[in-house]
Amino acid sequence: MSYETVIGLEIHVQLATRSKAFCADDASFGGTPNSHVSAISLAHPGTLPRLNARAVDYAVRLGLALGCKINPHSTFDRKNYFYADLPKGFQTTQDRNPVCIGGSLTVDSGRETAVRSPSTIRIHHIHLEEDAGKSLHDQDPSDSLIDLNRAGVPLLEIVTEPDLRSAEEVAAFMTEIRRLVRWLGISDGNMEEGSLRCDVNVSVRKSGEKELGQRCEVKNINSMRFARRAIEFEVKRQIGILESGSRVAQETRGFDAGTGTTYSLREKEDAHDYRYFPEPDLPPVVLTEQYLREIKNGMPPLPVELETEFREKYKLPDQDIDMLAQDRETAVYFLKLAKLAGSETRAKSISNLIINKLLPWSVTSKIPLDECPVSPSGWLELLDLIESGQLSASTAYQRLFPALLEKPAGSPTRLATEMNLLQSADSDFLDQIAAELLDRFPEKVAEYRKGKKGLIGFFMGELMKMSKGKAEPKAATKVLEDKLNE
Ligand code: ADP
Ligand code: MG
Repeated sequence: MSYETVIGLEIHVQLATRSKAFCADDASFGGTPNSHVSAISLAHPGTLPRLNARAVDYAVRLGLALGCKINPHSTFDRKNYFYADLPKGFQTTQDRNPVCIGGSLTVDSGRETAVRSPSTIRIHHIHLEEDAGKSLHDQDPSDSLIDLNRAGVPLLEIVTEPDLRSAEEVAAFMTEIRRLVRWLGISDGNMEEGSLRCDVNVSVRKSGEKELGQRCEVKNINSMRFARRAIEFEVKRQIGILESGSRVAQETRGFDAGTGTTYSLREKEDAHDYRYFPEPDLPPVVLTEQYLREIKNGMPPLPVELETEFREKYKLPDQDIDMLAQDRETAVYFLKLAKLAGSETRAKSISNLIINKLLPWSVTSKIPLDECPVSPSGWLELLDLIESGQLSASTAYQRLFPALLEKPAGSPTRLATEMNLLQSADSDFLDQIAAELLDRFPEKVAEYRKGKKGLIGFFMGELMKMSKGKAEPKAATKVLEDKLNE
């Protein structure tokens, strides 16, 4: 019997605002435990929350990027539960009227392979809420400790429809969301620090079955690899249960990275367990048409838009597009060079320079591309030297490239001249070497003249050696052939 996997995600994106969602406490990651906490974060009697406007801006940016309908009138609710890391005894969230509704994201789980397989995942809604604090279980031998610095940090929760069908699709979706939130500047998307994490709802059903199977929710996955392993384990476990004739129980489960297994945390709680009720201390969020226009106008072009431009205008292949559009900085840098070059035909050589040379340099040096000491026009000059035959590509990249980065002030042409790297197409220079060469190998010349034309490769090799690599190959071949055919 074959089964189909069905997955829906609840993704938490921690917003990169300076202060918390409902007060001025520092929202940055880390810090001395319990140093980013005021009476408001703790909901002491007499304090009142006030919504961080920047968090709303960020929610709207993401909503617009995902094609959601932006709710002109969203509201907050209290989700009540008791846990040590929740000092208020409730989480302020949006239950009834979330800020963004609907929308979708198209992802390609075939990116890693040559076979593209795009699928469109529908989004149910996105709501704004606050994070809880952190329980630390490994700091003290006998007690669990609490750090409330994170309590009240703004989160967006993206809830998808159960449209995902495999661990690969989940990884592709998470990767796409990470790129998008970074692109929009609303979150650092850092999974290790927990700025991006997800709850994975998994069920299986017999192939062809229309109804959804009973699902389990695996909580708080904070790496792509864990997501993949948790899903693979859950799918096997649930199929095992069905095959043995039993039924999957709806549960909330945890993932143990050590063993790669999931374990039951509790039976699934229902909404009424939380006794949601409207938050009395926060007014509705009213968003006007004009406000939405302003946010829209302040947004950068989206990744898909630039990808389309790279494909259609610059005729770049998919692999290049994936690399150049991996983040906004790289995409913008490419466009800067491409526009400066003034002609689309140079796009591929610019792309090669960025992908093969500049990105590896940027990773090693930890210097962002747009802070590169060599200016965009400097790089174009380097490409000019190669394309006009004045410099061989290997000399350009192996010798001039590192030298330029060390002496960024000099122009590539000047530096190449100083380093004596430029190739020569000068006919006197080439004539002289060719004449010397023919004198040196009279038997080979005779063989060539008898018809062994393949020897041109040998002559070119020798000529290159004699010129110390400075002969421009096309011109040199022409001079040699003319002499040999005399
Ligand atoms: P709840 O509010 O009880 O957590 P929701 O209906 O809001 O439940 O769904 C939460 C998430 O679970 C959504 O991402 C949804 O797509 C997903 N989901 C719902 N039913 C299933 C199912 N049968 N299999 C897999 N995922 C599901
Ligand atoms: Mg849920």
